[in-house]
Amino acid sequence: MEFRRVYLDNSATTPVKDEVINEMVDVLKNYHGNPSSIHQFGQDVKPLVEKSRQSVAKLIGAQSNEVYFTAGGSEADNWAIKGTAFALKNKGNHIITSKIEHHAVLHTCEYLEKFHGFEVTYLDVNDKGMINIDELKSSIRPTTILISIMFANNEIGTIQPIKQIGEISRENKILFHTDAVQAVGNIEIDVNEMNIDMLSLSGHKIYAPKGVGALYIKKGIKIHNLIHGGAQERKLRAGTENTAGIAAIGKACELAFENLNDHTKRITELRDKLIKGVLEKIPHTIVTGDREQRLSTIASFCFRFIEGEALLLSLDMVGIAGSSGSACTSGALDPSHVLMSLGLTHEIAHGSLRLSLSDFTTDEDIEYVLEKLPVIVERLRSMSPLYEAFQKGENK
Ligand SMILES: *Cc1c(COP(=O)(O)O)cnc(C)c1O
Repeated sequence: MEFRRVYLDNSATTPVKDEVINEMVDVLKNYHGNPSSIHQFGQDVKPLVEKSRQSVAKLIGAQSNEVYFTAGGSEADNWAIKGTAFALKNKGNHIITSKIEHHAVLHTCEYLEKFHGFEVTYLDVNDKGMINIDELKSSIRPTTILISIMFANNEIGTIQPIKQIGEISRENKILFHTDAVQAVGNIEIDVNEMNIDMLSLSGHKIYAPKGVGALYIKKGIKIHNLIHGGAQERKLRAGTENTAGIAAIGKACELAFENLNDHTKRITELRDKLIKGVLEKIPHTIVTGDREQRLSTIASFCFRFIEGEALLLSLDMVGIAGSSGSACTSGALDPSHVLMSLGLTHEIAHGSLRLSLSDFTTDEDIEYVLEKLPVIVERLRSMSPLYEAFQKGENK
């Protein structure tokens, strides 16, 4: 196949859809007012913010007055966790989360441990990235005030048993927060049916721009502010509204609601074609994450005997954008906390590749990857002393 650009890093961020861009441009051009202003310019833009709030609420089965706009998923996670911790610190100081959360959750919990006297249990996961429900139950203490478990993992796609976790939280009168940034728009979500008390979502993972997100907070739950200041967002999140961003995330949620089933079905087929093709064409490969309880958008692998970074660079040269769970931080190449939590060896975790799909992904894109990837892996392996040693051992 001819050279093409194939973007398969949608779990890092998606492109923005045209309908969403049009919505934003309309707000920027025609509705410049501050929603807090008394005059017509202010009053004109207010309904747009409320319409967007309704669209977000509808997608997750909430009421619109339970949705608060934030500057993204990280802020929503920080707010849910710190806001709960500070509001309930006289009730208890124990939080339960998992070892494979996004850093927005993990580092927030570590901060609360280090500077505010909280105690945090980080639940293990099995080799598919699934938490153990019995371990969750036995971790609950009289002082537990919050359970924060992600809906679906951003590196390996594993979907947690959210409804069950919600039931356990409710039975024990503990608040339940879920980071649903990767799940929203890809999985049907009903916060009431699933007993979710707080839920984080982000615009730029669902075809809206970066820097806008939302936190759902169930009616009646009182958590502290993260951002203090003006009376915006029912006095709970100060700061002049990001009106264009809010209109955009509303439009994105509207589109997601309309397309959810078709979207999921089509992408699941492409994902499965990709996984099947990779396993057929590339030996010594494992699929990371759960094969069934998996996001439609994520295909994730470990290829033995190669380095994820080298693989990403080679893929980039043929136009393919993916990502690796090995983050090069301060010069040291360390496999991600998620891959290490699966119990993979360093050697295997180093050869990780995540290819994440979107509504823009085509069958030709997948065909192209299935043509290029095996050749690149083979070439990288041919340069690996480990692979040579392995083959010699195998031939003996
Ligand atoms: C991207 C992401 C976040 C952070 O969202 P931002 O809007 O980039 O701050 C949090 N959690 C998960 C699971 C994510 O994938």
